[in-house]
Amino acid sequence: MTLLRTQPSRLTLRLSRDLTRDVKRGHAWVFVDALRELPAAPPGAQALLLDNTRGRPIAVGYYDPESSVTFRACRVEEPLRLNDDWAAERFQNALALRRRLFDDQTTGFRLFNGEGDGVPGLVCDRYADVAVIKLDGPAASSFWDIDGIAEWLVKHSGVTAVVERRKQRGREGRWLIGERSPLIEFLEHGVKFTADVLSGQKTGFFLDQRDNRQAIRRMCAGSRVLNVFSYTGGFSVMAGVGGAKHVTSVDSAQPAIDAADAHWLLNGLSADAHAGIATDAFEFLDEARLKRRKWDVVIIDPPAFAPSEASVARAVSAYRKLAFNGATLTERGGLLALASCSSHIDMTSFLESCEEGISEARRRATLLAMHSQPADHPTPLAMPEFRYLKFALLRCE
Ligand code: SAH
Repeated sequence: MTLLRTQPSRLTLRLSRDLTRDVKRGHAWVFVDALRELPAAPPGAQALLLDNTRGRPIAVGYYDPESSVTFRACRVEEPLRLNDDWAAERFQNALALRRRLFDDQTTGFRLFNGEGDGVPGLVCDRYADVAVIKLDGPAASSFWDIDGIAEWLVKHSGVTAVVERRKQRGREGRWLIGERSPLIEFLEHGVKFTADVLSGQKTGFFLDQRDNRQAIRRMCAGSRVLNVFSYTGGFSVMAGVGGAKHVTSVDSAQPAIDAADAHWLLNGLSADAHAGIATDAFEFLDEARLKRRKWDVVIIDPPAFAPSEASVARAVSAYRKLAFNGATLTERGGLLALASCSSHIDMTSFLESCEEGISEARRRATLLAMHSQPADHPTPLAMPEFRYLKFALLRCE
């Protein structure tokens, strides 16, 4: 079993700027414009990064001449060498963190979070005894040995099956080990969910919202709840389990709504306390506003509106509009939860657009809590751009 597909090589990359401190502090990415030249070598080749002044080695990692993230640092401490022992140690560290975080009431979580676990480009989620691996592009696929990693996981993490998912949308996953029916049941704080590990969004579930779902669960007793962009009903079911009187889930995808209904029943909640509506969220919100409908708790967790720098302006106005509608639909004294998973929008500009939207609705809000990703989605402290998730829990006055 091998964990890396590439061998140590003589390839060196020379910095053109003084980024030594950033790299040493844990910033794992070097962009193309910070390198002196791009030698001919295949994506995923191991490379030694040299500083810009004296040409001393400062990191070892892998090369991607086809990407603007041209070098990913894997190791900045001596020995500057990458091999299977190095990889196995990183994997064991990642497993040890998850053992600290979860008991048997939570069996769906992220095992490896790429750079945040010191394994650049490698993501792996676990649903009960199935692991789902996602490699971030061709360089990561050439660097990491996915078949070897699948075997390693079976041997060391207790999973019995492994799936590979590709980054591109619309691509079905494939079984590497232990083929079975793709709908996998797992627990989140004792609540039952399923993930379609071959064709569900992300790797099948939005594991990154786990802590935020717990926050909602604790605040919904006796409430009427609206969950917009519900996907398979994560927030809806948690609200229901937390004692919500009624929950409405809205998502444009009928299969997601069907799964939300199924998850509701799977947890023994009463069928007439959930309404799943497959429709466009923007139209639903406009119509509900015109009809002057109100809910005690409104949750709005849209898809990423700003996947790139270019789409930031449009995204900010979309968040503002959602906050406007969300505030209008929230009872006085009710709760409004607004989320953003756009990595190009930071906490400050997200909260600003929420504030503007809420003011436009002639409402005021107080911020109860601000959350980000949970501990099984760790990020290098030196890479703020990895902290994409923003979740504002507000009380609407
Ligand atoms: N809150 C969910 C994750 C939401 S992901 C959870 O915790 O699991 C975003 C969801 O928005 C996806 O399910 C997608 O189907 C849905 N979506 C995207 N565009 C939409 C639109 N215009 N109207 C309604 N739903 C939409």
